[in-house]
Amino acid sequence: MGRSGRVVVVGAGVGGLASAIRCAVAGRPTTLLEARSQAGGKLSILQDAGFTWDTGPSLLTMPWVLDELLQATGSSLAEELDVVPLPSACRYLWQDGTVFDAHASLPALLESIRRFSPADTHAFIQFLSYAGNIWDLTADPFLYKPFDGLKSMNNGNILKRTWQLDGIRTMDQAVRSYFTHPYMQQVMNRFATYNGSSPYRTPATFNTIAWAEFALGAFYPRGGMHGITEMLERTARRVGVEIIFDAPVREISHQNGAVRGVCTTTGAYYEASDVICNVDPQIAYEHFIPGARARAERLKKRELSMSGMAILWGINRAYDHLDHHTVCFSPDYRAEFADIDAGRLHDMPTVYLNHTTHTDPAHAPVGGQNIFALVNVPAQRGEMDWESLAPMYIERVIDRLAAFGMHDLRDRIVVQHVYTPNDFARLYNAPGGAIYGLASNARMSAFLRPLQRDRQLSGLVFCGTGTHPGGGVPLAVLSGKHAAAYVLAKENKNM
Ligand SMILES: Cc1cc2nc3c(=O)[nH]c(=O)nc-3n(C[C@H](O)[C@H](O)[C@H](O)COP(=O)(O)OP(=O)(O)OC[C@H]3O[C@@H](n4cnc5c(N)ncnc54)[C@H](O)[C@@H]3O)c2cc1C
Repeated sequence: MGRSGRVVVVGAGVGGLASAIRCAVAGRPTTLLEARSQAGGKLSILQDAGFTWDTGPSLLTMPWVLDELLQATGSSLAEELDVVPLPSACRYLWQDGTVFDAHASLPALLESIRRFSPADTHAFIQFLSYAGNIWDLTADPFLYKPFDGLKSMNNGNILKRTWQLDGIRTMDQAVRSYFTHPYMQQVMNRFATYNGSSPYRTPATFNTIAWAEFALGAFYPRGGMHGITEMLERTARRVGVEIIFDAPVREISHQNGAVRGVCTTTGAYYEASDVICNVDPQIAYEHFIPGARARAERLKKRELSMSGMAILWGINRAYDHLDHHTVCFSPDYRAEFADIDAGRLHDMPTVYLNHTTHTDPAHAPVGGQNIFALVNVPAQRGEMDWESLAPMYIERVIDRLAAFGMHDLRDRIVVQHVYTPNDFARLYNAPGGAIYGLASNARMSAFLRPLQRDRQLSGLVFCGTGTHPGGGVPLAVLSGKHAAAYVLAKENKNM
């Protein structure tokens, strides 16, 4: 096999698809091996009894990342998918009847804050400016460029300005320094959950996520988020990626410090000069890469991001007070995260709700709604019995939602599907069912995720949630871009 031979991508999540597209566009023969019979990983679709749900992501941010990928193939996002900005990113509800709508329009948004906390309207603008500054400092070195350890921080000149990253305070401490009303604090603290962390421990640097949503916008692809998977799969085929489903990888073989090929459990062998692994590094080191178990053991000692229990309900009525995204907040956020940190289920969980039926009426039979409910729960290393916990916790969630105007939910359910941490672990090979790989709770955690380019095996590169820059659809797509760049840079070195 020549040094610039076939690229084998392991896993057809959005990160794997993006990396495969980039490699194929650059002229490299590219094979994508996916364990399941469909692409998309967490970004998949479920249909039952006339209802359609996205099974994972429901909120699209930074759509230009997808556009940039499509442009590289000679197309564009606008040609492939109808992505619409949401007039309101989210509706926040509290049990006392307070409502906050995170409108895309600034005057409407400020008015919504003014209604329950006039003192926080100016604070909101100041907070955005602060969060935007962190975004400006971090987006380039951490998101848009491959992150290769401390070297990258030096190149981005970021070491000199670390104090501006606000990495010493926690997110909550910074949020409380701006906002007076506990509800505004709760709204802002919620952004920690976008990478599966706790606002009471994650560094304030992650306040930049609030900037990404409030200032850069929340979007929805008409037809559903799974349209992104369909678009990426279609594009991969168009640019010549060979996609093989039902091909669970068993081993990434190597010799003399370089990858040689990939074996599947079906007995097939694919020679490769480069392997891009879209499966979490801990799993890959433990199960796929001979001699790498010690590295898996080191990763196993690190804290995992949160998991979730996702409940997909098809219901035979419409709750008109629900927006596209709605959050029903717990009365005590700190206690909720304390329970999750301690590996317990919280009794009064915050419930995130999504339904797409007012944008896509075809996602439910007439008069019905496709509800996706998500509660944060601890990821696990095998200690929780979800078989017995799930039915009990679903009842708890239904009780909680009764306090938010969904009194008859129990009687309205036509069909129900549930995903627990065990399902996320089983379906996507996500350690402990953690949704966002390793947690970002420790001060340096953003710098300590497993690097994309493996330092010990030439030709092995990671992409997706488990590596840099982190979880979420746009970040996984960016990781695919960087993975391909590493592979192609190695090719140039070899020529
Ligand atoms: C409930 C939930 C809600 C979320 N909400 C949002 C949201 O609103 N917005 C957002 O941006 N993100 C959200 N996310 C996160 C987002 O879904 C992920 O970060 C992103 O889809 C992950 O992509 P990935 O590239 O890491 O691949 P993954 O989706 O992790 O896919 C990995 C792929 O590898 C395959 N694989 C595993 N083992 C093997 C093997 N041995 N051989 C071959 N293939 C294998 C799997 O089958 C899978 O297809 C959410 C996730 C979940 C679960």
